[in-house]
Amino acid sequence: MSDEETVLVVSNPSGGHQGRMHTDKDCPRLKVAKKAVLERPKRNVESHRIMCKWCTGEADPGPGRDVDPLKRVRMLLETDKDAVGP
Ligand SMILES: [Zn+2]
Repeated sequence: MSDEETVLVVSNPSGGHQGRMHTDKDCPRLKVAKKAVLERPKRNVESHRIMCKWCTGEADPGPGRDVDPLKRVRMLLETDKDAVGP
């Protein structure tokens, strides 16, 4: 058993934005990334990746938990262009 914290990352983020690290396997961003999702020790990636706002709950639109994840990503796209991407 390991006490090492792992996060999920999408391989080779494109578009020039900084890569995110995710803590939720069901994160809608991971589902739309269409790239390989890798599990990595958090300490290996935290220096060059930022925490996904969806996984921290910051980007959660609120009580709309039943909203289609893809729709939620589109909503975010329209409101914060810098916050999108894997
Ligand atoms: Zn995420």
